[in-house]
Amino acid sequence: MINTAEGLLRDSRTYLRILYLFLAFPLGTLYFTFIITGLSVGFGLAIVIVGFPILVLTLLGWLLFARVERELAIHLLGARVRPMTVPDPVKRTAWQRLLKTLADPVTWKSLVYVTLEFPFGVASFTLATVLLTTSLSLILYPVAYAISTALYQQFPGDAQGTMFPGVTINGNFDVNVFVLFLLFSAVGVVLSVVSLAVLNGMGWLWGRFAEVMLGVDESRMQLASAQAEAQAQQVRAEKADQSRRELIVNASHELRTPVASISAHVESLLKPGRQMDEETRKYLSVVAAETGRLGSLVDDVLSLARADADELRLDVRPVDVPAVIDQVCDALAPLARRDRNLSLIHSSAPGLPQAMADRERLGQAITNLIRNAVNNTPEGGIISVETALAGDRVAITVSDTGIGIEPADLKRIFDRFYRTDESRARDAGGSGLGLAIVRDLVTAMGGSISAESVPGQGSVFQVWLRRAT
Ligand code: ADP
Repeated sequence: MINTAEGLLRDSRTYLRILYLFLAFPLGTLYFTFIITGLSVGFGLAIVIVGFPILVLTLLGWLLFARVERELAIHLLGARVRPMTVPDPVKRTAWQRLLKTLADPVTWKSLVYVTLEFPFGVASFTLATVLLTTSLSLILYPVAYAISTALYQQFPGDAQGTMFPGVTINGNFDVNVFVLFLLFSAVGVVLSVVSLAVLNGMGWLWGRFAEVMLGVDESRMQLASAQAEAQAQQVRAEKADQSRRELIVNASHELRTPVASISAHVESLLKPGRQMDEETRKYLSVVAAETGRLGSLVDDVLSLARADADELRLDVRPVDVPAVIDQVCDALAPLARRDRNLSLIHSSAPGLPQAMADRERLGQAITNLIRNAVNNTPEGGIISVETALAGDRVAITVSDTGIGIEPADLKRIFDRFYRTDESRARDAGGSGLGLAIVRDLVTAMGGSISAESVPGQGSVFQVWLRRAT
């Protein structure tokens, strides 16, 4: 019991809480006056537009008061109040922020809190004043008696009167009265300890109230921290992804030079007329073919990595599509005829408008499609490329009379590194990246691509580009 009382007296929190109980009165009065005036004037004038800014100002005022109160509750009352808001990952306009604040329960709970502070302040101030002054006067009774008696002896005329019913101050120091007043003093000490306990308890209770009213719920805090954690993880994942992409771009870029150098050296070794035995020539030819394959694989990986890293740097502008296709066909037709006796035909609808594309990349995409057609069409087949207008788009159709694609493969041929079993069995030499690159390029130009096929009869690839005018 004594220990508890001593603890209470020694703890600075007790006095801070009592200080708060005194402060609550003027602060509560200020809040109450401001809010009630603001709300009544604001609503009163809501018909004319000025009422609205007054209401917003009142809202801002009470939120500011609530923040001040939250700080006071933490530092004076020793309450553990959670933050009033949780970080908002979404960027909002001022109007959206206002609506969000109005929909937030903490806003309304804080209004209740700061408004209730007025009656609480009146009660706490009154109680604290009554209890503390009563205790203090009781404690001071013997001191007051001794001083008054002594004063009477010095100034008989000035200091006299009745201090307590039946006790007159007349210069005679009555020990019995003094002892009685000492008892009063003891009662005063007890009362002061009880008062401190009551006031401390009152402050503690109000602090708990602040915890409920001035902070967000525990569940919302947990949700917010989970969201923040998820966001941080996403940022980390994006960073890791970005550095992986950069690594691939840089690595494939660096690989190009040595591969090109090997290729050039092997080609000069294989120059016609150079003396070497048949076996060496055979081995060197394999090295040349495989280096060529490695070179185009590196180029393909680099193209895809650039697309992933948004580094394609396309120059999309109105392009004359038939002219681009003619150029590609001119380059590939001789090879197609020489290797497999294939005919490569190009036809385009008259008066075709220009399409939005990157000229060079479009050429690369069409080259890939025609190469695939050449690689998958048996001797004597036909590969045709048609360009036509389809609504607001320019359609390029590459069809062949080749081996076709099984429906199960058709779904996956645009996947990276996907090759049909047929192509693997023939060791056709591809890496399975060609169509993935075509799709990335076409999509980056704002177009789309699709494929259809009848196994054994042929395949049709269609590219749609936006028309320019
Ligand atoms: P690759 O570089 O290996 O040819 P692609 O991504 O260009 O890779 O093609 C994916 C798969 O689709 C390959 O296995 C290829 O054989 C098949 N393919 C592509 N075009 C045709 C076509 N016109 N006819 C038949 N199969 C095709």
